[in-house]
This record gives sequence, C-alpha cells and structure tokens, in this order.
Amino acid sequence: MSEDAIETMRVKQALFLVGGKGTRLGSLTTATPKPLLEIAPNVTFLDVLIEQFSRHGFSDIILLAGHMAEQFQSRYHLRQRGGATITVVCEPEPAGTGGALHAARNHLDEWFVMANGDSYFDINLRSLTKPAAAGTVGRLALRQEKNAARFGTVEVQGQRVTAFREKQAGLEGGRLINAGVYLLNRGVVDAVSQVCSLERDVFPGLARAGQLEGRVFDGYFLDMGLPDTYQLAKRDMPGRRQRPVAFFDRDGVLNADHGYTHRVADLKWINGAREAILLLNEAGYLVIVVTNQGGIGLGLYGLAAMQAFHERMQNDLAAIGAHIDAFYHCPHHPDATTANYRHADHPDRKPNPGMILRALEEWPVRHAGSFLVGDRDSDVTAATRAGIPGYLFDGVDVFQTVSRILQDQKR
Ligand SMILES: [Mg+2]
Repeated sequence: MSEDAIETMRVKQALFLVGGKGTRLGSLTTATPKPLLEIAPNVTFLDVLIEQFSRHGFSDIILLAGHMAEQFQSRYHLRQRGGATITVVCEPEPAGTGGALHAARNHLDEWFVMANGDSYFDINLRSLTKPAAAGTVGRLALRQEKNAARFGTVEVQGQRVTAFREKQAGLEGGRLINAGVYLLNRGVVDAVSQVCSLERDVFPGLARAGQLEGRVFDGYFLDMGLPDTYQLAKRDMPGRRQRPVAFFDRDGVLNADHGYTHRVADLKWINGAREAILLLNEAGYLVIVVTNQGGIGLGLYGLAAMQAFHERMQNDLAAIGAHIDAFYHCPHHPDATTANYRHADHPDRKPNPGMILRALEEWPVRHAGSFLVGDRDSDVTAATRAGIPGYLFDGVDVFQTVSRILQDQKR
C-alpha cells in the first residue's frame, strides 16, 4: 500500500428537513411545500441542494418529510440524482428538528449531515465533514452575520462551541450564527426525545459539555422562507449554480502513472495534487476527471477495479476536506478484446473531446474560467477541441500549476 494514501471514513449520508409548513410564504405554499418551489423552470430549490450534496459525494440522501409528504414521495423517493439515491422518510406529525431526527433513527449512519431544506449555504461540505476530534459528537457550519439580532448566536473558542444562545433583542454588531447545516454522530439521537428542537433542547447542553465543534464559512447563504428571499433565490441561484470546471487527466497528473494503473495499492498521489483539488473546491470550481481507461477494453482489469481506485481517491481527499465532483472514463480502445469496446477512433477517447463535451452538457458549467490540466499533448488537444484552454503539467507540483492558472485568470 502506498504510504501516501490515508485510510479514512467518508461521511456519505445527508438528511434534509423538508417537513415545514412554509406559512410565511403565504399563497405560494398553499399547494406546494416550500422546498419544492421552483427557482428556474422545472428546477426546485431542493433540486439545487441535492445537486450540491451529491457532487460532494453524499450517496445516501434522506428527506425528512411531513407536510404534503406525498409530493416529495412522487418526485424523489428511490430516485437517483448524480451518484445519490434519495429516500423519503415521513414524520407521523410535526415534532421539531429533534423529533424529525428521532423519526429517522433507524436509518442513520454513524456520522451524517443534517440540513434545512429551505436554506442554501454554498460551502465546501467536505471541510465540514473532516474527521472530528475524539469526544466530539457534532460540528456546526457557522457564518458571520452583520445584523445578528434576528438570530440565535453561537460562541466559539478555537474549533469548540462554548455557548449556544437564544435570540436577543437589541444585540448589535456582527456575530457568529448557526447556519443550520450540521455534521452529527448517531449518538446524538440518544439525547433526542420524540418531540424536541435540536437548537433549543440539545445543542446548548452539548456545547456546555464541550462536545460540539463549529467551523466558520463565508459562502453565499440564502434562507428562502420569506416572499422577498424567495424572489432572491429565483434571481440569484440559477447564476450561482453555474461554476467553472477544472478538468484533470488522471494518470500522470493526480496519481503516478504506472501504465494502466488500476490497483488501489498502486495509488500514489502526485505532489500537490490533493492540495490543488482542495484549492479548487474552496474557490467554487467543479473538479472533473476525464481519463482514458483503455485497459478496461483491453481486458487488463474491470470497471469495478477502476471504481475501487476512484473510491480510494475520494477517501484520501476527504481526509483533507477535498473531493472530486465527477469522473468520466473512456473504456474504448482500437485493440480492445471485446467488440463493444473496439473502436478505431471513439469520440470519447482523448485526443477526442467526447468526455469533456458530455461533462459540459451534464453539469451547470460556466465556460469562462474552465480549463484542463493534462500530462500529454492528447489531453491538451481534447481540451482545445472542446473549446477550453488546456495546460500541460510540468511534472513538478500540481498545486503550483493550478495556482498559476488561477492567478492568470484574475489578470
Ligand atoms: Mg496522463
């Protein structure tokens, strides 16, 4: 096993609270639950949240529904979105945020993320879910709020949350507030009764016991629960979904190229590759791998081996709070042993641009700023044919290469 690889547990489950009545939105929510209001034609607010979590590698998404639960059932139950499978769990009756968690207690992984279905916080979710210190049972995503009077506030010392306070009238100036996205350990459910609020009844005690961490993020935040803020969601979110893509060739750029590399034990990260991906995650890029995998067509290894290799890459990245949004691979080869994979010049096989063109179509991409890094001319040619700039990795340090590209873009 490569000494560069780090074994880690990656959090894969996310729960969304979607049971609220949405009464503050008036007639808009008479026939439609709040998270199912559209921000663009046939794109609901909840669709955008699910997209955010699924591209961060959450493969098990649970919707905790109550009010008008059947609408969530018909749109999402047992459906696939990206790499995620969605399950709808119904609360028998409204029982607060803790009660909703209680209703889902038989579905929970050891660690999971819980979030409100009516607010969007554009953050690196893998930074929130990095492994926690011993004794920690939860970590809250926090944000600075200029006018904190409307919110409960949170106090921290370093990473530790020391106090969780109710709304205070007359509180002036900026404060840290709870943004409603939590990493939680299943053990927290033990402290939860059938009807309760996590924020009022559970978190203050955990904070006093020193079991709660907080991490401050400065991403775009929107609670769409008011008529004005729903209008803001419709105005801002379609544009905010669009992101530039950093495409990477895999072998020779992210991991050492041993020739048809496919064994997990052969995963050796190239200098600065993980850090480059983290930099791009934090800067709001999609990170997409486009890799020729002719070894599959040649019968040297199977799809499952490649997937295990990618899974290990994601686990190693999660340990530093990073992730790859998607992998595209081309199994075709001119000399493939099976007819399905035998093509003299398959449109996906680089230097052809098929994989890049497909990714540009399947993701909400902003072309401006998108680029590719590869270690062969065929990578750069594929990028050029797809209409985006391609850069050759000089073999020294991927973080330096990517930093230079991002700096050049700012000029
Ligand atoms: Mg390569």
